[in-house]
Amino acid sequence: MTDQNPNSRSSPGQPPEAVAGHPPEVVVLRTGGPMSSRRIEPTSAVATLAPGTPEELVQRLVDRLRHAGVDASQLDLGDGVLMLPGVTAVGATRLLAGEPAVERVYIPDTRYRLVRREIFPGGTIVDVAGVKFGGPEFVVIAGPCAVESPEQVLAVAEGVARAGAAVMRGGAFKPRTSPYDFQGLGRQGVEALVGARTATGLPFITEVMRHDLVEEMAPLVDGFQVGARNMQNFDLLRALAEAGRPVLLKRNPGATIEEWLLAAEYLLAGGNDQVILCERGIRTFSVDTRYTLDLASVALAKRETHLPVIVDPSHATGDASLIAPMAKAALGAGADGVMVEVHYDPAVALSDGFQALTPAELTSLVADLAALAPQLGRALAGAPTPARAPETAVPRAVSS
Ligand code: PEP
Ligand code: MN
Repeated sequence: MTDQNPNSRSSPGQPPEAVAGHPPEVVVLRTGGPMSSRRIEPTSAVATLAPGTPEELVQRLVDRLRHAGVDASQLDLGDGVLMLPGVTAVGATRLLAGEPAVERVYIPDTRYRLVRREIFPGGTIVDVAGVKFGGPEFVVIAGPCAVESPEQVLAVAEGVARAGAAVMRGGAFKPRTSPYDFQGLGRQGVEALVGARTATGLPFITEVMRHDLVEEMAPLVDGFQVGARNMQNFDLLRALAEAGRPVLLKRNPGATIEEWLLAAEYLLAGGNDQVILCERGIRTFSVDTRYTLDLASVALAKRETHLPVIVDPSHATGDASLIAPMAKAALGAGADGVMVEVHYDPAVALSDGFQALTPAELTSLVADLAALAPQLGRALAGAPTPARAPETAVPRAVSS
């Protein structure tokens, strides 16, 4: 309900006036297609609040509902949302008749509630240090799998900036399948990303695996990544809900769409609607690509939720030669962006080198996406500020 909220449904105006006896619109949300196998009894309501509703009015309503036995709670999402657990359509009409603070009441028929598309039909814009996900622009995030040294991340970041990507990535805390593989530089890696951001102007997203690191890292990062393995690390999700930073939530390779959306629901239910969903490949019988890129999940998540959805073709395919075609397919499928891994010398990368693009390959991919985007009603997002990308000698990677 703040005036600054980018997802306010309308500009702040006069507080709403009561219309005596006027019931708010109550809508039972019904999902379709095979997702209808996920349907539940619609017995919990989500009420959206009228723009500009004064805080005291909302508090009085919450108090009244609690007095009536409803465990109502308020969330600062969009223009404001009230959670009304256990309230059915009939109950909502009875409890909220003539209530000026309430714009509309939704009763979802799925376990995920706040992420449902119908609640913010225009879509949520996620703002990563000025780069907007979920609007007309298609965003390219690029950078190394792992931060290997300050010199390596700076050299890659400069290549990423020159290629025209809008956001940088780089892993400092690395989730590795084998304990013998390079585990990342940790805090020093995040400091190296901060240095690369200062030099290039590119904001960055980085993964954090532990909930107790979130508060310390939040002032440094522009966005957090939840890695595929941590999609259901609920302590981490709860901490990120309160971190005041956007979250890129990767789908676990074994997760259903419902589980993925419920993980996102943790973030929204904790008060953070700045969530980007990321499809990064799922586990199937096929072993010819690293995972199987589930592009239908992109279109489905876009249909089911109001959140931006992006694609990570690097982990999905594990093969540098497949990144460009899959990134273009992601744009075609309606994704809001892609995240790709880049290394100036993939052969010496300390992790995921086989799926890394070179800066030159990224440059040609970004040019192709920029040419394709307008045909699909999109444009490529630029960096938030003019990126400073001086030519520098390419250093060798330091060994871990
Ligand atoms: C990564 O982005 O480097 C990564 C580890 O990805 P994922 O969690 O999807 O495996
Ligand atoms: Mn990787």
